[in-house]
Amino acid sequence: MKKECIEFRNVSFRYSEEGPWVLKNVSFRIPADEGVAIIGHNGSGKSTIAKLINGLLFADEGEVVVLGTPVTEETIWEVRKKVGMVFQNPDNQFVGTTVRDDVAFGLENRGVDRSQMITAIDNSLRAVGMIDYMLHEPHRLSGGQKQRVAIASVLAISPQIIILDEATAMLDPKGRKEIMHTVNEVKDQQGLSLLTITHDLNEITQADRVIVMSKGEVWLEATPREVFAREKELQEIGLDIPFVAKLANELGKVDVPISQQPLNHEELLEELW
Ligand code: ADP
Repeated sequence: MKKECIEFRNVSFRYSEEGPWVLKNVSFRIPADEGVAIIGHNGSGKSTIAKLINGLLFADEGEVVVLGTPVTEETIWEVRKKVGMVFQNPDNQFVGTTVRDDVAFGLENRGVDRSQMITAIDNSLRAVGMIDYMLHEPHRLSGGQKQRVAIASVLAISPQIIILDEATAMLDPKGRKEIMHTVNEVKDQQGLSLLTITHDLNEITQADRVIVMSKGEVWLEATPREVFAREKELQEIGLDIPFVAKLANELGKVDVPISQQPLNHEELLEELW
């Protein structure tokens, strides 16, 4: 069995002692080098999960383990060195006046020497296709470009896990698709683990596995295709599957001999994604 990079062991959490439990006995394992997506309706507990991984919150019951280390107040800095997080609004993350300075910031904080820093900046900007924008001002870039720079800043510090927390929510469908493509490419090239946290089912198509959350509980753990096949039940928990998946589901129901179908369910999904 592959080594786990993130493990939730019977985790329960509430924001106050009298308040409702927002995570209820949540357990899952994310193996190293895998791409996993956590999806759920608004308020299902996704951001709380991200904060528990990053040590912004701590489990009331159960245990969160990142790369073999239980997340506690004593270990958060060790954990944060290995986990790169990209959030929804890149503007809130920029600190440098140029793209290069921005990517350099995290490296300077870690005391990386100058020649290593130049290589890390170069490699990470190249990986996300932003090497030609080194001297541009981050705030003047398009939404998709900003998010690429945010991802480069995370890559530069050589994390073992990247977490995208609604990172493409502000982009149009084309920008969203491009970012997901870039991140998945980087993940495969550098052997990283990727956790995508989203409410948008379009973002789960490239995941190896999907964890569907509903009302603070794990509702389903399956492959993207198995998830899409449960269109009606997903609608009941506030999730709408992408048009292409709906089309593929409909075609799957049509009673035409396989040999006469232009494409079967699987092939159609391949073609369109
Ligand atoms: P999601 O990311 O899936 O939208 P969240 O993890 O943000 O869900 O929220 C889960 C539940 O916790 C929701 O009911 C939300 O209202 C509640 N919640 C989130 N943040 C706080 C907070 N700081 N204080 C109290 N309740 C909160």
